[in-house]
Amino acid sequence: MQILRTVAELRTRVRGWKADGRQVGVVPTMGALHEGHLSLVRAAKRGCDRVIVTIFVNPMQFNNPEDLAKYPRAEDTDAALLAAEGVDLIFAPAPEEVYPQGFASRVIVSGVSAPLEGAMRPDHFEGVATVVAKLFGMTQADRAYFGQKDWQQLQVVRRMVTDLNIAVEVVGCETVREADGLALSSRNLRLDPLARAQAPGLYSILSRAAQALRGGAAVGTTLAGAVADLGQAGFDRVEYVELRDAATLDPITAPGTRPARLLAAVWIGGVRLIDNIPV
Ligand code: AMP
Repeated sequence: MQILRTVAELRTRVRGWKADGRQVGVVPTMGALHEGHLSLVRAAKRGCDRVIVTIFVNPMQFNNPEDLAKYPRAEDTDAALLAAEGVDLIFAPAPEEVYPQGFASRVIVSGVSAPLEGAMRPDHFEGVATVVAKLFGMTQADRAYFGQKDWQQLQVVRRMVTDLNIAVEVVGCETVREADGLALSSRNLRLDPLARAQAPGLYSILSRAAQALRGGAAVGTTLAGAVADLGQAGFDRVEYVELRDAATLDPITAPGTRPARLLAAVWIGGVRLIDNIPV
């Protein structure tokens, strides 16, 4: 397994694979890898002849410099984990390689980027869409693997790929959870023991609300009930609990007519957690 830092080296390597007729998969990550990321890698290994994992903490998608500075970095451990999975290549560029002097372009995916995470984190999806479009251009991958954990991000990427005719197949992979239901996230490491013990409440409360909605419960009352339950369960702040169209993220008032997703963002012990489940 090689670790490459420049686009030129990456291109040369991928050109060789493509000349041999190999299908190339890419798993974009920001590193600090856990089993959630590794599940994407395994899906890529099953679906493609060659697998690239990109590790890049993308400054453009952080609206808070402190969050960017605090983001965990663990390249040596990540490389060992990826070598054990049989990954062919890690692409881990420096910020200057991705955003050289004079860089002036932005990818804006309107509509699906606007609500929820987009409303809470201004310009976040602009940063995500721009770097993902660049990673697709750099890697020339045939398939790209993303987690359903970041449901809205997955829909933003799908919309961008369709709109810009990018020749990549986007594969969405199931959220990997701890045994108690907490979705794996690099942020979980920042939870103190009490917050860690309370955090699985997010998934159980969402699951209960989703079940009620599937059973025909009124949307407004069910969502308000979930917010109240989260407060009771020890969450410090609820940013949103929303029922949305699974693809467009438009609000839904009557579930059952089209695929829907229940999405939430909450704070506990100074850590922001997101999760989502189908309805
Ligand atoms: P990140 O490094 O946090 O940007 O995540 C890289 C990729 O891993 C994204 O496509 C995430 O959706 C995915 N991912 C993160 N956590 C999980 C999880 N618990 N289960 C499945 N995929 C995940």
